[in-house]
Amino acid sequence: MITSIATWSAPSTERTFDLAFVRGFVQETYAGGGRPSIDPIVFFKLQLVMFFEGIRSERQLMRHAADRLSVRWYLGYDLGEPLPDHSSLTRIRTRYGVEVLRRFFDAVVDQCQQAGLVWGKELYSDATKVQANASLDSVKPRFAVEAHLAALFSSETVEKPAPGLEVGHSDSASADHPLIGPPDMPSGEVSSPGEQPAEKASSLPPRQLHPSLENTTREELARTNGERHDWIERLGEPDRAVIRGTYRRMSDFQVSTTDPDATLMSTKGGGSHLGYHTHYIVDGGKARIILSTLVTPSDVMENQPVLDLLWRVRFRWKLRPRQFTGDTTYGTAENIVALEEQHIRAYVPLPDFDQRTDFFGQRDFQYDAQRDVYLCPNGAELHHSPSGSTEHYKLYWAKAKTCNACPLKAQCTTSSRGRRLSRHVDEEYLERVRAYHTTERYKKAMRKRSVWVEPLFAEGKDWHGMRRFRLRQLWRVNCEALMRAAGQNLKRLLKKRGWGRRPLPAEAVCAASHPDWEDDEQPMEHAARRTWARNLIASMVSLGSIWGMRHAETGTFAHAVVVHVGAPSCADAHTLTETSPRPTDIYLSYLLD
Ligand code: SF4
Repeated sequence: MITSIATWSAPSTERTFDLAFVRGFVQETYAGGGRPSIDPIVFFKLQLVMFFEGIRSERQLMRHAADRLSVRWYLGYDLGEPLPDHSSLTRIRTRYGVEVLRRFFDAVVDQCQQAGLVWGKELYSDATKVQANASLDSVKPRFAVEAHLAALFSSETVEKPAPGLEVGHSDSASADHPLIGPPDMPSGEVSSPGEQPAEKASSLPPRQLHPSLENTTREELARTNGERHDWIERLGEPDRAVIRGTYRRMSDFQVSTTDPDATLMSTKGGGSHLGYHTHYIVDGGKARIILSTLVTPSDVMENQPVLDLLWRVRFRWKLRPRQFTGDTTYGTAENIVALEEQHIRAYVPLPDFDQRTDFFGQRDFQYDAQRDVYLCPNGAELHHSPSGSTEHYKLYWAKAKTCNACPLKAQCTTSSRGRRLSRHVDEEYLERVRAYHTTERYKKAMRKRSVWVEPLFAEGKDWHGMRRFRLRQLWRVNCEALMRAAGQNLKRLLKKRGWGRRPLPAEAVCAASHPDWEDDEQPMEHAARRTWARNLIASMVSLGSIWGMRHAETGTFAHAVVVHVGAPSCADAHTLTETSPRPTDIYLSYLLD
């Protein structure tokens, strides 16, 4: 039996997911006159085809759309009708910017919520490393690059481009000068003569949400908000002017001339790549809906943007989470205090410093909150000492005379000046979180965490090109991540609406890289050869078979990867080894561009 794999079902998607709502999002980016534009619905349909098929380039996408009847039908193009040029997709994405793609992501989450797929009582967070589309060879000393740019543009003002107002590139290799400021507004099908959407948007006065506030309060709030670092507003860009102590990041000294926003990240094999962190906030409901995503340079740790993401999730979808679960990286005092003050239980592991010392640990001392003193195992008191205390830690000191005469001193300290203890100013919150650690609810949440967010990353990496961004610069990779997360949510939504079994994305099946790519320095052209076993296993699992084999056939226009699943027929028997099992029932063929 020969079966051609249906990669995704265009009719089912068309029937179950109406994209008419996107017209409202992009209205302000179009002018009344000008040349006829590409329908925004077509743009988003093409993005969905790209996601579902695991296609990594707009050129490849348009070739795929031209050859595939079902895709033409889905887009609403007749057989002889010319499809949009691939470069138009780049221009449209540039015109829309991150904001429109975020609205699209939000709209998908809205529909998931309306379909009852969002529970909202528990939230889980994690981040994964994603390789940037840039080579390590492009890393140069930052001072040299900045000096070069300063010399090049000494008579011009080089400004950081506003997200969405910068010319992108349809294929990653076409970025000419990523470090250079914003080029002109792109022309083409979506250009609006003499009018720019960002100007229109900025000319509108901001909407007053709390008219009852006093002017002074409003100004105070505006000033406070202006001073804080809004990770979502800044698209994950860190404030590099902030330096903690003597610690300096590698990215303070080095920059990639290909993708200046990507930073060096270590990989499992001990090497390093340029890359980003993709952060997900995931709902604890059965559908595992992604509620928020953000891409930051890889030197931004998970705990830094998490509060901004959480608050946005909470207010955007009016959720009242009871608990937040994350790994050790999220267990900072700042995060714990913020969560607990909002009555959200912070289920995060905390480091156990007591295990790292041979002397009495903090647990061996009793804290008397009323008197603000610690009682040591020998019954002596440790009093708060302002000298030596910092903004975040209070120092407690025992008298030197008492300690030097103490029979337990060998187990407590080697200092002749008496034992010292430090206590975090928000220690009561940390103690509350430590108390959670003994509860069954916490243990259950931690077990759930290990299987909740990681599989979404694995799904993205195995099937939807998440191992490596195809675009460059923060705003573009954020666009890419938002579209991917929207697609992942959409799969759950369409399944709920009767889409049926989720098919395999054919392009991703053939082009997915090895799961251990970080350890594996083989060039990308060997990817198909390296992934045959995984493709075969995926086919076997999806068809419930216990046997399979694969071989490749090269044609004039395409490379056919043939996978036999089940057991072989007589016709195929000659390709099998002596020890292989026999009967065949299913013969699958993937077309690889
Ligand atoms: S050394 Fe000092 S702080 Fe430690 S047990 Fe003895 S008296 Fe207490």
